[in-house]
Amino acid sequence: MYSELGLYIDGAWKKTGGGGKSEEVINPATEKPLASLPHANKADLDAALEAAKKGFAAWKSTSAYDRCKIMAKAANLMRDRHDAMAKIMVMEQGKSYAEARGEILVSADIIDWYAEEGRRSYGRIVPGRGKGIRQLVMQEPIGVVAAFTPWNFPILTPARKIGGALAAGCSLILKASEETPGACVEMVKCFADAGLPAGVLNLVFGVPSEVSEHLLSKDAVRKISFTGSIGVGKHLAQLAAKGMKRTTMELGGHSPVVVFGDADPEKAADTIAAFKYRNAGQVCISPTRFYVQEDVYKRFLARFTEYANGIKLGDGLEKGTTMGPLANARRLDAMDSFVADAKDRGGKIVTGGKRRGNQGYFYEPTVITDVPDDSKIMTQEPFGPLAPIVTFKTFDEVVQRANSLEFGLAAYAFTTSASTAAAIGDAIESGMVGVNSIAISTPETPFGGVKESGHGSEGGTEGLSAYLVTKFISQG
Ligand code: NAD
Repeated sequence: MYSELGLYIDGAWKKTGGGGKSEEVINPATEKPLASLPHANKADLDAALEAAKKGFAAWKSTSAYDRCKIMAKAANLMRDRHDAMAKIMVMEQGKSYAEARGEILVSADIIDWYAEEGRRSYGRIVPGRGKGIRQLVMQEPIGVVAAFTPWNFPILTPARKIGGALAAGCSLILKASEETPGACVEMVKCFADAGLPAGVLNLVFGVPSEVSEHLLSKDAVRKISFTGSIGVGKHLAQLAAKGMKRTTMELGGHSPVVVFGDADPEKAADTIAAFKYRNAGQVCISPTRFYVQEDVYKRFLARFTEYANGIKLGDGLEKGTTMGPLANARRLDAMDSFVADAKDRGGKIVTGGKRRGNQGYFYEPTVITDVPDDSKIMTQEPFGPLAPIVTFKTFDEVVQRANSLEFGLAAYAFTTSASTAAAIGDAIESGMVGVNSIAISTPETPFGGVKESGHGSEGGTEGLSAYLVTKFISQG
């Protein structure tokens, strides 16, 4: 039932990497191995690079109209195969089947949207100062792209990068997560079966630091797109700077949620609690710090806790499961450390706060109160099913607290006042703000952070521009 894994280089699948190295892929619900994943060695990476150079030349000269047709076909194949792909994703990543299925269908929409938008990548003509001068502003694909994606969204994150790059006319070398390779392998098969020319999309796996260092040292790679932690993002940005390569950095967040006293606390809790525990909280835009105005605090906390207690924790392939295990053992250790620090700092565990069982990386949906602003859970990205909920008194105070960290990816607010809605949207330092809404990630809108959460956007016209360079031609 699981995927047949391999490296995809120059239009061919390789079951073994050049150096013969491999690693096991583990099912986080059972801790049992699913398959062995081959690692690329330097020769494989060089072969992928040569293929991507050749692929770029071919794809750049393919019309946007024809590129769109191939991409749309790949998106349809993803829809046709979504059931098998979703099961593979659940086995390797842990999320519930419903979430995995939704992720694949949204990813197909992302590919479709970019495919269409690529046809609307226009230049312009600027009137010349002299007679007979034609001034053309052209948009051209930047070149070969190296993309690095993490384990929390094994298809959605690669889809954003593949969609933007292919629509712009670029070729790619994608290093997807070694912990969740199968679903991405299946997506790449959809592109191959849709007729994407050899070399345009290459998929490799290996030791992440070795792969990125090798690829980023090569002149032919002109653009890096990375999704992952802030530390790794800074490291890759430094490597990219050496070769003056463009970067898109989608890094971590620590998203504040502000619930004002005029909001309906039960409605707000229902909306945001479901969003909190999606993918067991392992989402960069997951709501992670809850500030609730004193007069509605008790009602919000009660409803939120009720939701957390109603979550059915289990293997994502079992019927009725609403939250799966954490994706790897590192997250279990991280959760224990956040909870221990919260308790040390006077925090109260309202529900959860511990691992469930001793096989599979299951961690209980957790609600914590009374934690100080300088505790670990309020200052570091939890990336797990922990919800610290505290009170605030005034608008200015909560804005100061929300903006006090180095993160700036997503933020949420709930209010029934139009003026408060406008004011909080303006005041929060964040790449995305959901006011009475959690719909901040769609194919047609820009997704990205500010401050240490990174730079550049994926999605929307911004996501396409990220793979384009501007050329000015003055023609006498
Ligand atoms: P990590 O920093 O070791 O890895 C994060 C991702 O980056 C992984 O997919 C990894 O394969 C990749 N990576 C690591 N070093 C790399 C390198 N030198 N070159 C290229 N890729 C590299 O952390 P982790 O334990 O996997 O995850 C923990 C933290 O990472 C989380 O707490 C969260 O902050 C962050 N994270 C963020 C996202 C996101 O969507 N922004 C996704 C996953 C993890």
